[in-house]
Amino acid sequence: MTSASLTNYDLHSHSNCSDGSLSPVELVQAAQAGGVTHLAITDHDTLDALPEANSAAATCGLTLINGIEFSCQWQKRGVHVVGLAFDAQHPAIVAGAKHMLAIRQERALQIAEKLNKLGIGNALAGAQKAANGGMIGRPHFAQFLVESGVVKNFNQAFKRYLGTGKAGDVKHQWPEMAEVAQWIKDADGVAVLAHPLKYSLTRTKLKQLFQDFAGSGGQAVEVISGNDQTAQQTRDLAKLINQQGFYGSLGSDFHSPGMAWQALGRAGPLPDDVEPVWQLWS
Ligand code: AMP
Ligand code: MN
Ligand code: MN
Ligand code: MN
Repeated sequence: MTSASLTNYDLHSHSNCSDGSLSPVELVQAAQAGGVTHLAITDHDTLDALPEANSAAATCGLTLINGIEFSCQWQKRGVHVVGLAFDAQHPAIVAGAKHMLAIRQERALQIAEKLNKLGIGNALAGAQKAANGGMIGRPHFAQFLVESGVVKNFNQAFKRYLGTGKAGDVKHQWPEMAEVAQWIKDADGVAVLAHPLKYSLTRTKLKQLFQDFAGSGGQAVEVISGNDQTAQQTRDLAKLINQQGFYGSLGSDFHSPGMAWQALGRAGPLPDDVEPVWQLWS
């Protein structure tokens, strides 16, 4: 945030309705304490945080923008698409989230089965306990693996069991990128390609992804994700997205107060030559 700006947008964050550690109300309060004026809670594949967060935001005068982070696939790779400023009651997005819940529950069964074959029992119950009624994902399996002493920490859990190519990485369960972008558009929202630098793509592939995303109705790309991105990376992404005519978004990808590189409200500001995504709904 520059000293002159009165607004501070953070358009990517997680509550304990997915794999974050704060409740929706706590997240709204922490965002405000961190200087955020406009927040989107973008839990993985669920809208569950929004009602509670909306009333908390109204109480404290923070502007909440409806959000979700959909898991999907593009050319058989996992990518994430954030939906913003949609009608959260629209049947298209409600049905989308319901579909994702079924996929994640089936996937959790498959992950548990695979771990069981490796001699690690009770993983489903353990992960469900960690998810505590929220949308289940690999981080909850990681928590179970740590708490049951199978691994020393989260990193090790991903490195040995849950990361790309490991037993707990179940392939090809997600819908296509174009499909989730359509759910968001149908619900009058804006589809944003999340953290494009996290997919380990070559430059050629990255440009192809941008092109396909635009072709699928995607309107914006996260130019900044978190606060440990270099200025050079940001400038480079800004140039690429401007070539494609995208709007730019930014967010912390906040999960938990302990993670300094994902601190609420610290990702910005957007470069001056980028059209802010919030122009699309403000
Ligand atoms: P899922 O959506 O269930 O596939 O889980 C992916 C989530 O796990 C991401 O959103 C991150 O929050 C977390 N995650 C992914 N990779 C790692 C890693 N290597 N270490 C810790 N957390 C990770
Ligand atoms: Mn996550
Ligand atoms: Mn993501
Ligand atoms: Mn995220």
